[in-house]
Amino acid sequence: MNSKKNQALRLSKEAMQDFGYKVVDAVIEHFEKQDEKLPVKNASREEMDKLFSEDAPENPMPATDVLNFVLENVMTQSNVSTHRKTYAFVPGPSNYISVMSDTLATGFNIFAGGWVGSAGAAGLEISTLNWMLKLFNFPVKKGGGIFTSGGSMANLTALATARKVKCGEDFSKAIIYLSDQAHSSNIKAINILGFKKEQVRIIPTNLEFKFSINKLKNAIAKDKIEGLKPFCLIASSGTTNTGTIDPLEELAVIAKKENIWFHIDGAFGGAVILSKKGKKILKGIDKADSLTIDPHKWLFQPYEIGCLLVRDHTCLSGTFTEKPEYLRDIEGNESEINFYDHGIELTRHFRALKFYMSIKTFGLKTFRDAIDYNIKLAEQVEAVLRKSDKWEIVSPANLAIINFRYNPVKENLLEDKIDLVNQKIAAKMMASGEAQLVTTILLGQVVLRMCLINPKTTLEDVMSTIVLCEKFALEH
Ligand SMILES: *Cc1c(COP(=O)(O)O)cnc(C)c1O
Repeated sequence: MNSKKNQALRLSKEAMQDFGYKVVDAVIEHFEKQDEKLPVKNASREEMDKLFSEDAPENPMPATDVLNFVLENVMTQSNVSTHRKTYAFVPGPSNYISVMSDTLATGFNIFAGGWVGSAGAAGLEISTLNWMLKLFNFPVKKGGGIFTSGGSMANLTALATARKVKCGEDFSKAIIYLSDQAHSSNIKAINILGFKKEQVRIIPTNLEFKFSINKLKNAIAKDKIEGLKPFCLIASSGTTNTGTIDPLEELAVIAKKENIWFHIDGAFGGAVILSKKGKKILKGIDKADSLTIDPHKWLFQPYEIGCLLVRDHTCLSGTFTEKPEYLRDIEGNESEINFYDHGIELTRHFRALKFYMSIKTFGLKTFRDAIDYNIKLAEQVEAVLRKSDKWEIVSPANLAIINFRYNPVKENLLEDKIDLVNQKIAAKMMASGEAQLVTTILLGQVVLRMCLINPKTTLEDVMSTIVLCEKFALEH
């Protein structure tokens, strides 16, 4: 056989450097210039098809040409999740250290599935998870967890675990409880796991958008009388709509008394544990059996990294361990965790690396300060809006989320008209591209929602958006 290396998919050192530096330059240019761009970019399927639909090419072309095409036509056709004026949904304020760390993980193509694949990756993931366990006051030795692609996957992993632990094989009578403000990914997970509609109790929230304790107690009592098996309770620590934290301590007491798995979805708000008041406002979070947090939201990581913590790590291995023949030989020491035994994925991206490197580089203090800043900013915005006679606060600043609507006192608008005006403001804002701002529905009202978790966003940024909203409101 020819001993010469096969050149398939290989580039010369110079070509790799040339291409690599161009990519890095493009990323850095984006970091530097992103706030001069518009945060919103709308395009139709037709326009995108025109750009992209072609057959896969049989023959090569220069890498730089492909890169330039992508920079011109893909990266420009995208909302800027990291923009100062991205207020909608949950923005994705990323950081450069994590971006490059992610590149490193990909560059070395580290297999983060098992100990034998990379002891370094597994060890670093264990250590980074331990930081999280400590922050949330979970038992470090007994507890455990896993980094996932995001919050949805963390919730799915949690609910699969809850079911296995509490129901074993037969979940035909199992009932799961969550509030009407719980994130849709929980319902999605419930559906994926094969629960029927009749097994889900969506408990209405009270006027503060919090889990209604009495309604929950009544529902559990009723289900027990009917011979059903309450097995899982999902609380939110920071709902995505309003940032409201459910009464975690009271819910924990109920879960314990009823022998129900207590899952807390902290995908949005869990990060607040790092803030000054975090321990106080998240009181009871350490009582959860499982907790979802989402570093690619308010812990400033680029997509994708979610995180699931559990009080007892054996629950994860008890749920996800399967032993195909070809994995038998790599069973090591019990303390040498194979993360493929702790979750859904076998081959896994080394996502802990970016989180680890950014925490080491910036220090937790930088994260704490950023989160405190975000909370304060939302409170400042609330104070300014309260002084105006044009705006009404529908849900006050809560974990950097605020909901409000245009409703000038003098005009005495009818409810339908108010809904229409606020819908119009959001539509015009998105069409203009000036800010990423959309509505949500609270108490049957159309409201504008701002999620202010970007540390670059200033009060002036928000106020300039509010001024624009007022202009749009008056346009016909
Ligand atoms: C965003 C969010 C999720 C889903 O997380 P992804 O990372 O988008 O999959 C789940 N729960 C809450 C409360 C969220 O805010």
